[in-house]
Amino acid sequence: MNKQWMQFAEQVKQLYGKDFVPLHEPTFDDKELEYVTDCVKTGWVSSVGAYVTKFEEELAKFVGVKRAVAVVNGTAALHIALKVAGVEADDEVLMPSLTFIATANAVSYCGAIPHFIDVHQETLGVDPFKLDIYLQEVAEIRNGELFNKQTNRRIKALVPMHTFGHAVHLDELVDLAEKYHLVLVEDAAESLGTYYKGKHTGSFGKVNAMSFNGNKIITTGGGGAILTDDEILADYAKHLTTTAKVPHKWEYVHDEIGYNYRMPNINAALGCAQLEKLEQFLIQKKALADKYEELVASLEGVKLFKQPVHSNSNYWLQTLVLDESLERDEVLGSLNEQGVMSRPIWQPMHELEIMKDCPTMDLSVTNRLKKRIVNISSTPIEVNNE
Ligand SMILES: *Cc1c(COP(=O)(O)O)cnc(C)c1O
Repeated sequence: MNKQWMQFAEQVKQLYGKDFVPLHEPTFDDKELEYVTDCVKTGWVSSVGAYVTKFEEELAKFVGVKRAVAVVNGTAALHIALKVAGVEADDEVLMPSLTFIATANAVSYCGAIPHFIDVHQETLGVDPFKLDIYLQEVAEIRNGELFNKQTNRRIKALVPMHTFGHAVHLDELVDLAEKYHLVLVEDAAESLGTYYKGKHTGSFGKVNAMSFNGNKIITTGGGGAILTDDEILADYAKHLTTTAKVPHKWEYVHDEIGYNYRMPNINAALGCAQLEKLEQFLIQKKALADKYEELVASLEGVKLFKQPVHSNSNYWLQTLVLDESLERDEVLGSLNEQGVMSRPIWQPMHELEIMKDCPTMDLSVTNRLKKRIVNISSTPIEVNNE
């Protein structure tokens, strides 16, 4: 086994004071216990309750949007965000191939077709410059809507994702969406606490989605939220995620096929406690990134991925970028074997059998990066950076 990786693994274990260091663990204390206990004691554990409203209000305030709608998970949030943004069956939706499966699944739930685009190596997210050139070639605007000239399908939306909490080139993407008449929907699942030029991610698109799964920067157990400045779309999202029930004192009237996607109160209670700690997590994660950068400096052929200039990142997952001299799977083997849990970046969507019929552009950056990226232990802790 390579000596430099043994030494690095030792340093990581020392940092955490553990023999086995998971990729990302939730951090709880008495606050979570207090709020969750309150739900149990009062009986308000399920689909309505004060914590849901409180969580929605505080989240919206933190992100800087008018409304947040809390739901069962990030995938459900994306599904409904796309639906209220107007994505319909047989539309195409532009999205990175380098993302978690949830982005593509949500598009598929709408009956729409993912159309995979390449990423920028500076952000690991959608490359607006390459996308512009590509769309000029393959798409055209007909009656105010964008169409794929090859498939004749409408291209309705553009879904950038802020990989590991690093903001994509949002100014350029906002302009691109306008130029090509696309609805912008941010998959901000990984980017709570990440700012683009001082403005929070998840506030740029028309409707956006976030996740509070157990491994995310804050967790509600499982959970997600739809974020928007548009009151009408927010009300519609709330309606759809609460079985599309028409308000009435006793009658059960539902005016369309809705979803039971609402976040239970007991999960929102956890979320309220976690939100109180978010600022502290952000400070700890930045310090951890600095510490890792220092440790990685002595490793041959490796760099820590640092935030792009326009991004104030949450460093949700700490990321190593390997150069061509290193075999990714050997690095993963060494670190995991020594108790430092590490994972590769996702297998790109265009390589999955279930996605093989989806249109794609040239994905050379994606194909190069997929072999070069390793995420390492990222749970926020106190570190000393002298
Ligand atoms: C976590 C995540 C989601 C949503 O996941 P859920 O587990 O459904 O909450 C969506 N997109 C990306 C990129 C994610 O990382």
